[in-house]
Amino acid sequence: MNLLICADALIDRPAGVGRERQAKSYGLPMMLMETSSSGFSRKLTRRELLIGGLAAALSGPGAMRALASAAQPATPVSFGVPRDACDCHTHVFCDPRRFPFWSGRTYTPETATVNETRALHRALHVDRIVLVSSLVYGTDNSCMVDALRQLGHRARGIALIDDHLSDTELDALAHVGVRGIRLNFVDFGVPDKVIIRQRFQAAVKRLSRRDWHIQIYSGLSVVEVLQDDVMAAPLPIVFDHFAGARASLGTSQPGFDVLVKLIRSGKAYAKVSGAYRVSDRAPEYSDVTPLAQALIAANPQRILWGTDWPHPDSSRVPGRRPIDTAPLLQIDDGLLFNQLRVWAPNEDVRKTILVENPARLYGF
Ligand SMILES: [Zn+2]
Repeated sequence: MNLLICADALIDRPAGVGRERQAKSYGLPMMLMETSSSGFSRKLTRRELLIGGLAAALSGPGAMRALASAAQPATPVSFGVPRDACDCHTHVFCDPRRFPFWSGRTYTPETATVNETRALHRALHVDRIVLVSSLVYGTDNSCMVDALRQLGHRARGIALIDDHLSDTELDALAHVGVRGIRLNFVDFGVPDKVIIRQRFQAAVKRLSRRDWHIQIYSGLSVVEVLQDDVMAAPLPIVFDHFAGARASLGTSQPGFDVLVKLIRSGKAYAKVSGAYRVSDRAPEYSDVTPLAQALIAANPQRILWGTDWPHPDSSRVPGRRPIDTAPLLQIDDGLLFNQLRVWAPNEDVRKTILVENPARLYGF
């Protein structure tokens, strides 16, 4: 498994820098780089006791892993989901004894297993799944690869890589279903414009001659910085989670017009996913609707839908260290999925979003 152990989402790191040194390249304080096995030792909350049951809660240090802590849909799906619908944004968090977290991570999630994703997608009537490797593993994609192997032909993956990964190793990732890489311009702060463009260009170069794409986790300011590069890119670009638009600011917020232009051009895709990341209006996040409708109206063939399950809480909470376990957010994915019917009332448009676009982009 040596093939998947590299370290960061950034690909401009100088050659020869190892995993620990590389964390320093983010400019992170030393305390963030400690490793710890104490992530599962915190007290269980009342909710977890209720969910997990008393027996699990009393079963000692392994109790957290016995709990079904990741959310499952509470609301039934209210529309006919087309066959081969795809959830284009999910994560799995493996047992840390088998797949350790990266020492430079900014938070520590609870586990979320392949079996739990199966239950989620059964409830949502969704047949296909895209797994996104998480920064909590640095650029070690092996937890995701393990999940891809279990899920087989109905799953695809998005990897985090760095420039140490050889072409042979990228081939091996392609073999298990990886179809793209993710650039993260959020979790370690927004870099300088020049650095953003350098990272983007390095990623484009790295993926040349591959049938892959680049997925970008950012805010709208990064979309603005990259607009010319995206238009000139020889491969598709995907912006996660409404490209970080703020629901409360509506469609006239700075940069949203650029996002719409890129979607309309066909050069970029937008994921109408993780609505709770852009809105505070739980549980339906209705203020996201104008954003979703504007993006879909611009070009339904460039829209992807995803849950962002199991909803890791990557926010900075006072007193919570990166090595302390952050409880997964309890989001009702059934209720959120039903919003798609509001965003895209036309059945054919929903089929484009749920089936045709993912089949084209991920090669199902
Ligand atoms: Zn996510």
